[in-house]
Amino acid sequence: MISEDEHRSFVNWDEINSMPALSSDGKDSRISFGSHTVNHSILTNEKTNVVENEICKSKEIIEKETGRNALHFCYPNGNYNDSMKKIVSKSYKSACTTKSGFVSESSDVYALNRIGINEEMITDWRGNFSKYVFIYSIFVESIK
Ligand SMILES: [Zn+2]
Repeated sequence: MISEDEHRSFVNWDEINSMPALSSDGKDSRISFGSHTVNHSILTNEKTNVVENEICKSKEIIEKETGRNALHFCYPNGNYNDSMKKIVSKSYKSACTTKSGFVSESSDVYALNRIGINEEMITDWRGNFSKYVFIYSIFVESIK
């Protein structure tokens, strides 16, 4: 059950674990949980041992709490460098930045662009979720 605390903006472990790991056809669910460090440290300001701990420990915690692999990473504030990409690539399949944009086959899988989604991009004039508003918003992003 989802908490009714409207001021909380993150899911908790119980909520994550209530989301199915497998879909009804037995395949992997399209929901996965990635890592964003333990303390939201800005990695480019930290020493290597701190960077390694932030990247690896967060994966361990997610995997312990959910029983699922944490395969994807997101750099806090989008700050990264080649050294961080190398550390991340040892235990993750991909990582995203905060740079807005789509990805393609030629994208660097350890420095992926992304599209930020906010409420205005997914709700209609009544404030209800609308797949049409969402599709329109993605179209607008694609021609920016
Ligand atoms: Zn963040």
